[in-house]
Amino acid sequence: MGALGLLFAAVMANAFTAAAQQRVAGQWRVHTLEVLLAISRTETAVNAALRGARGYLLTGDRVFLSPYARGRIESEAELGELRTLTRDNRVQQRNLADAAVRLHAYLDTVADEVALERRGRAGEAAAMVASGADRGRVEDVLAALSRAKAEELRLLAVRSAETEAAAKRGDRFNWLIAAVGAAMMALLAVALIGAARAHRRTLALTAALQRRATTDTLTGLANRRHLIATIDTEVRRARRTGRSLSFAILDIDHFKRINDTHGHAGGDAVLREIAAVLRETTRETDLLGRIGGEEFAVLMPETDTAQAERACERLRAAVAGRTISLAPGVETRVTISTGVALLSGEEAGDQLMARADRALYEAKAGGRNQVRMAA
Ligand code: GH3
Ligand code: MG
Ligand code: MG
Repeated sequence: MGALGLLFAAVMANAFTAAAQQRVAGQWRVHTLEVLLAISRTETAVNAALRGARGYLLTGDRVFLSPYARGRIESEAELGELRTLTRDNRVQQRNLADAAVRLHAYLDTVADEVALERRGRAGEAAAMVASGADRGRVEDVLAALSRAKAEELRLLAVRSAETEAAAKRGDRFNWLIAAVGAAMMALLAVALIGAARAHRRTLALTAALQRRATTDTLTGLANRRHLIATIDTEVRRARRTGRSLSFAILDIDHFKRINDTHGHAGGDAVLREIAAVLRETTRETDLLGRIGGEEFAVLMPETDTAQAERACERLRAAVAGRTISLAPGVETRVTISTGVALLSGEEAGDQLMARADRALYEAKAGGRNQVRMAA
């Protein structure tokens, strides 16, 4: 999570940097445009001054003096503006200082020509013009401005290249971040799958342990401990709901003989077969258990005396009627004696079991293979 947070922060920082770079690049473009416009205005003003002066010198018409004067003022003003715009660029300051010197030289020359003309010395003025002094100086000014223009364009190109390189670096960084993010997601997925598997294994193990703790391994029925715990739970439930609860203990008759005749393994096979008969003959809601060597129990919720007796009689008949095959050609039959008790009054689970046990003893005493109801 921490690493994902860091990634997110890096992406945000990168986006922020890229936006800042774009902003700065935009500002530079605007700045360059301003400088180029100022240079162009300066050139226009210089040319206007020249045209005004020439007009006056050629025609002697004073109407030309006004554009001449405006050109002078504007060219100086525009050059001043240009120097302010480029004050943090030493190369441009040098170029423009040079342009200013040339501008003044030029303006002085033209001013001299105009002064001669005004004083009526038109011949001298014409000679100055003819010498091309002013024309040459104007070329000097325009050349200096042209260098300033070239320098500004060069700077813009350098900065554009830098911005582009930075953008490429930002892109590469974004790809890197995306790759790292994808790798982390993959790792996370693997870790989650592993955790889910471990969790499933733990659940399965817990379930297996739970089964082992509550089940009799020979028959698969509930073991004694589980059955007794369940009796206590069911006794409380029956007390709360007011429903009846019956309990039966079943004991195989003369089981010792089975072991003696067929061996311990034969005895075990009979125990498993009796468990199967119990499963086939009882209700889904009844709990079946093996609570001793050849003793079984059936806990019957919501079952009154008459129903319990009928159920146990059915069980007795089913066991008695079952031929149990122990090996090819070896068969046997067994009977069971059953004691049944119905939960009564305030009695606890162990008292209920004790009454069923006494009824079982009576069934044995009464001749076995029979069901006896507890008093
Ligand atoms: P009855 O109940 O009719 O009075 O006679 P019984 O022979 O069944 O009674 P008893 O309690 O004397 O004998 C029970 C025998 O069950 C003793 C023991 O050898 C056998 N037994 C107990 N547990 C097991 C078991 O897990 N497997 C096998 N094969 N025999 C067992
Ligand atoms: Mg017994
Ligand atoms: Mg017995």
